Order: sequence, then structure tokens, then C-alpha cells
Amino acid sequence: MGWAVERYDVVVVGSGVMGLLVAYELSKHGVSVAVVDENLEPGFGVSKGHAGVIHVIQPPFSSLKSVLAVHGNRLYDRLVGELGVRYRRLKALLVASNADDPSPP
Ligand SMILES: Cc1cc2nc3c(=O)[nH]c(=O)nc-3n(C[C@H](O)[C@H](O)[C@H](O)COP(=O)(O)OP(=O)(O)OC[C@H]3O[C@@H](n4cnc5c(N)ncnc54)[C@H](O)[C@@H]3O)c2cc1C
Repeated sequence: MGWAVERYDVVVVGSGVMGLLVAYELSKHGVSVAVVDENLEPGFGVSKGHAGVIHVIQPPFSSLKSVLAVHGNRLYDRLVGELGVRYRRLKALLVASNADDPSPP
């Protein structure tokens, strides 16, 4: 029995939220993408256990991580529309541990 060889422009290793979003965005530009994972089902890595919070900001607030959180948060309005995912923005309260450093202890 012979093997069927399939070719893709890009192979993404890992079907967590990062791998799937990278594959999704690439596919919109005509790039053929295969996503592979050592788990049997997609999203069964760390992504499976997330708490469902789409962060608005990340401490320390001046960090690149925080800048990306602000940018990424805004992308969700478009993304959920494209994917047809139910989504509702809720309010949250961030409490600073002291006046100088807003990072949590
Ligand atoms: C308890 C908890 C709560 C969290 N809550 C939130 C939250 O509310 N909001 C938030 O934004 N973030 C949250 N996070 C963080 C968030 O879940 C992770 O940052 C995110 O899921 C990471 O996604 P990822 O795609 O990078 O990794 P993963 O979801 O881990 O995906 C990586 C995939 O790659 C596969 N893989 C790895 N190596 C190989 C290999 N060699 N060959 C084949 N496959 C491979 C793994 O099997 C896995 O499926 C939380 C994390 C935890 C632990």
C-alpha cells in the first residue's frame, strides 16, 4: 500500500490557541496550512485549561506583553464575528497592590 503525500506551504506544530490562530490567519492569505499536534484533539495543551479571560492589559503595564494584550483584545471583536462565536464584553476591576508598582504581588 502506497503513501499519499500531501504538500502544504506551512506546517504549524501545535494546535493550541496560538497555532490555530496562526493557521487561521495564514489561510486567509491563500496559504495552505497543516496543523499537527501530538495530542489526539486540537486545543488539548495549556489552552484546554484557560480561565476564559481575554486580558485587557497585563502587568507590568509598560511591558511588551501588556502592549500586545491591548492590541490582541481589540482583535477579538473582528475575530468572533468571522468565526461566529458568541462573545460578550464584561467589566473587570484591576486592583493595584501599591501606588508605585501596579503589578500584583
Ligand atoms: C490554569 C490556567 C488558566 C489560564 N487562564 C487564562 C486566561 O484566562 N486568559 C488567557 O489569556 N490566558 C490564560 N492562560 C494562559 C493560556 O491558556 C496560554 O497562554 C495559552 O493557552 C497558550 O497557548 P499556546 O497555543 O501557546 O500553547 P498550548 O495550548 O499548550 O498549545 C501547544 C500545543 O502544541 C503541542 N505540542 C507541543 N510540542 C509538540 C511537538 N513537539 N509535537 C507536536 N505537538 C506539540 C501541544 O500538545 C499543544 O497542544 C491560562 C493558563 C492556565 C494554565
